[in-house]
Amino acid sequence: MQLPKFKYNPNPIETECLEKSDKTCEICNKKRGYIATSIMLCVDTIYDICPWCIADGSASKKHNGEFVVNIENANSLSSAILQEISYRTVSYPAYQELVWLTHCNDGCEFLGHACEQDFKFISEEETQRLIDEKTFTKEHIENLKISNDTSELPYLLKFRCVHCNELKFLVDFD
Ligand SMILES: [Zn+2]
Ligand SMILES: [Zn+2]
Repeated sequence: MQLPKFKYNPNPIETECLEKSDKTCEICNKKRGYIATSIMLCVDTIYDICPWCIADGSASKKHNGEFVVNIENANSLSSAILQEISYRTVSYPAYQELVWLTHCNDGCEFLGHACEQDFKFISEEETQRLIDEKTFTKEHIENLKISNDTSELPYLLKFRCVHCNELKFLVDFD
């Protein structure tokens, strides 16, 4: 069966947001072959949710839960977009508080772990944002920009704007 499409998380297997599993989904009570690796934030304790019950909103609706609570610049987004990210998007397993980055008044797509070489494509705007947020110093970013290292950085996540392709980075230390 084909996996449901997530606008803001287009490759959930590759980004390890979904894993192959023979567990029973706690929403539809079926074994559908895949389970989300992140949790839904809700009052009830729910561990195993299949991607179909995330995509159609049934998991969120049944338990009044959210997959993403913190959305960057949330007040610049339409309620339809906010609802899609919070209630119908498979999230990523985070160490720190989970944040969904945004750009061009829309959610960004999650692309998993970044590598140093990704910094070759960083914009001035994103460089300044990371400096302002004290994620990196300017010197650190300049060093990353000349790196050709393509190994995944476990502490650094990557998002891309669905409109202008702006790359954005998020630190997630364990
Ligand atoms: Zn299900
Ligand atoms: Zn953009």
